[in-house]
Amino acid sequence: MKNITVIGSGTMGNGIAHTFAQFGYTVSLVDVSQEALEKGLNTISKNLERQISKGTITEEVRVNTLNNIQTFTDLKSAAKNADLVVEAASENESLKLKIFADLDTFCKPDCIFASNTSSISITKIASATKRETNVIGMHFMNPVPLMPLVEIINGYSTSSETTFSISELARKLNKTPVLANDYPGFVANRILMPMINEAIYALHEGVAGVSEIDTVMKLGMSHPMGPLQLADFIGLDVCLSILKILYNGFGNQKYAPCPLLINMVTANQLGIKSGTGFYKYTFGNKDLVIADKFSS
Ligand code: NAD
Repeated sequence: MKNITVIGSGTMGNGIAHTFAQFGYTVSLVDVSQEALEKGLNTISKNLERQISKGTITEEVRVNTLNNIQTFTDLKSAAKNADLVVEAASENESLKLKIFADLDTFCKPDCIFASNTSSISITKIASATKRETNVIGMHFMNPVPLMPLVEIINGYSTSSETTFSISELARKLNKTPVLANDYPGFVANRILMPMINEAIYALHEGVAGVSEIDTVMKLGMSHPMGPLQLADFIGLDVCLSILKILYNGFGNQKYAPCPLLINMVTANQLGIKSGTGFYKYTFGNKDLVIADKFSS
């Protein structure tokens, strides 16, 4: 595999493009607008600078990484020569089904289709194509260039050859692949999202404030980041979408999204990507500042 197409240049897509490009792959990065692509490329540039300042990459790697990425707003032009497509578009089932159905019409027959979905069924995604054996989940963690795990999800019909190729590829990116089967939320989000939702319920019910909830989990459980800060980092819209999938998939009340989370997403308070969530984010300020709504 040499030519990788990454769909979506948001939080995850730009990190996935960055990582493949850093390890020498040719990356076609596609999004719906030039503006979204520029935002993604800016983030990649900033993250490469950060890697340089930490001494984890050289200037030569930075330049090569940027040179390995081409951007597109047209899916067909971006994907027609791909050996692997990694889809990291918004967490919306009908959107993803449409993207994969389209890809199936113009991608090479042996091209592997991977989705970075956090929770949508890989079997369902595969059913939108006529190459079910070549469809797999490749679930990177955020921030992609730094996090060592890739959760590999086998759909009902994924072939062992596809699983092997994608696991080997993850290793070539210096990541550890972990295999999971296709059930709602797979492993990572089946465990993580109920914790985040419970933290939001604790805030909503007035058990404690934002800072207290996050501090308990950081100092008491040695989590590097509290669950509310983590929710801001992931994106509250993404958290809500995943909880809905868990709730619908298992039919269990314990996954019902907290009404506060629903309200915040409706009000476009999505965390870092919108500038405000449980905390507020201003460019260049690294201090954690609680959002006005939650500061007493
Ligand atoms: P995001 O909202 O930051 O980015 C999504 C991007 O997809 C946007 O730039 C949007 O313009 C683009 N997009 C939408 N429709 C498109 C289309 N038809 N073609 C091309 N691009 C399109 O979302 P994200 O957080 O990067 O999440 C992307 C995927 O990764 C989701 O499936 C999500 O569940 C998954 N994921 C997210 C995280 C996280 O921490 N945010 C972690 C693991 C997996």
